Amino acid sequence: MSGSPAVVMRLVASAHTVAEKAGAIVRKVLHSGDLGIVEKTGANDLQTLADRLAQQSICASLSRRFPKITIIGEEELPAEEVREDLIESGHSEEILQKTCPAEYRELKEEELVVWVDPLDGTKEYTEGLLDNVTVLIGIAYAGKAIAGVINQPFYNYQLGAGSALGRTMWGMPGLGAFGFQLQEVPGDKRIVTTTRSHSNKVVTDCVDAMEPHEVIRVGGAGNKIIQLVEGRASAYVFASPGCKKWDTCAPEAILHAVGGKLTDMHGNAYRYHANVKHMNSAGVLATLRNHEYYASRVPQSVLQALKSD
Ligand code: AMP
Ligand code: MG
Ligand code: MG
Repeated sequence: MSGSPAVVMRLVASAHTVAEKAGAIVRKVLHSGDLGIVEKTGANDLQTLADRLAQQSICASLSRRFPKITIIGEEELPAEEVREDLIESGHSEEILQKTCPAEYRELKEEELVVWVDPLDGTKEYTEGLLDNVTVLIGIAYAGKAIAGVINQPFYNYQLGAGSALGRTMWGMPGLGAFGFQLQEVPGDKRIVTTTRSHSNKVVTDCVDAMEPHEVIRVGGAGNKIIQLVEGRASAYVFASPGCKKWDTCAPEAILHAVGGKLTDMHGNAYRYHANVKHMNSAGVLATLRNHEYYASRVPQSVLQALKSD
């Protein structure tokens, strides 16, 4: 590598360490025993102390280092001074050593938009389904998801003491994806992964229309994309509004980095400009391979109910 690292690589390198810090916060709040649960729009739309502290940590840490980037976090929080112990100023040296894809080499701080889901899978977090939980930091440029970091704070938690707890995955289309072993579902088996806590008849009808051999119902958008890239599911199908841009930006970047695809139910790409609508109103269809097959199976009734933006 020659010259100083590109801004976007410095941002990804910081986001990697910042996501690890957020993961540690998420673990610490759980162990404190007091989750501080607040209902946002209802019982299936929760916020905990971990969501709040992790977002404060991520946003304050990144904006201190990159004051000109636009950061959009899921949680609405009062504008207050963030505690100093929540600030992370480290970065991943390994990421800084990577060569930035040529097309992103000259990007400026003010052109980058960061989408933050400080805790994806909050409902599952409160129910003890800990491996469903992720911290998502997605980076967008010109409306496209160009890099993503996913921390899984409780990865390996079932193995108990002695095994390393938590992991961080990251990826950038044109560069690659790291922190996990890419695997595909064996054979032509159609394993569909979908929501466990935000289902309805349209959602289940659409899953059935894929003629799956197996259906997995788990929490979290980040978690479902991890299932796709680790060969545990072939398609993530969610024919409903509810997922937001911070749920899909980081996962989409990692999925695209390994040749997968994330779209709405019509097969149209989502955009990640700073002023875009937050809701992914036309659902989420994500696959590692054979996206066309799944898109072709979406019922007309679903397409009519969920309009692309
Ligand atoms: P799920 O697959 O149900 O875990 O949803 C993935 C992401 O989308 C999570 O961040 C959820 O909070 C969010 N989400 C999906 N549907 C809804 C909904 N109806 N209300 C609020 N959030 C939702
Ligand atoms: Mg989420
Ligand atoms: Mg969240």
